[in-house]
Amino acid sequence: MSRIALTLSLCLLTLNLMAQEKVVQTAGRDQLGGFAPKFAELNDDVLFGEVWSRTDRLGLRDRSLVTITSLISQGITDSSLVYHLRTARQNGITRTEISEIITHIAFYAGWPKAWAAFNLAKTVWADDTAGEDGLAAFQRSMIFPVGEPNTAYAAYFTGKSYLAPVSSEQVNVSNVTFEPGCRNFWHIHHAAKGGGQMLVGVAGRGWYQEEGKKAVEILPGTVIHIPAGVKHWHGAAADSWFAHLAFEVPGEQVSNEWLEPVSDEQYNSL
Ligand code: MN
Repeated sequence: MSRIALTLSLCLLTLNLMAQEKVVQTAGRDQLGGFAPKFAELNDDVLFGEVWSRTDRLGLRDRSLVTITSLISQGITDSSLVYHLRTARQNGITRTEISEIITHIAFYAGWPKAWAAFNLAKTVWADDTAGEDGLAAFQRSMIFPVGEPNTAYAAYFTGKSYLAPVSSEQVNVSNVTFEPGCRNFWHIHHAAKGGGQMLVGVAGRGWYQEEGKKAVEILPGTVIHIPAGVKHWHGAAADSWFAHLAFEVPGEQVSNEWLEPVSDEQYNSL
């Protein structure tokens, strides 16, 4: 696929993902359905079902940011603020960010309101350690999921990586995310016929290197073709998170051979 065609299909995929983001809310009917059915319907079907769901116009994270700013500014620190703080966290606002957001609001809305909001936010983000912030921020820059920690292949990686299966039909495709400095060991994709691997940069900045050749930079949209039998490695730049799609090119008698790690000396000389 050409780079333009790929960019186009990624854009279409983005639109698809966004169009599907319908917010389902039942709190109105659950809590007030018997007492105020019209209010419950407006809350669940209009406020959440229509306004919150217009994610093609304004994303959920931004809507959360606007909503908590509005609630805190009015001094509303009851269960509705707790609900919206939890939702803000689900929508990608990190512990570092909420701390900064409420500090900022304090100057415009009032010091005591910020104190009250901080007391609630502290509990909502209690188990979010600072280290997750970088990963959360990276996820927001990328349309494919980060997925789960890559435990299956951790033995063949230097540093932390994450794996998200994207396709398991026709061609196996996974999104692989590398923390800064993370790279896989030298390895070879073997095949009697066909085989090999294709990488497409998704987000951040990374490297691909074949043995005996200069390393090649991978940026979003960069396509790398790796023939079967070629010794190589791929991973993040030292100062950047990185993700690439990995396409398993179909072949006969395919297998992977994992070799030695890319030494710090080799890696740091890039
Ligand atoms: Mn490979």
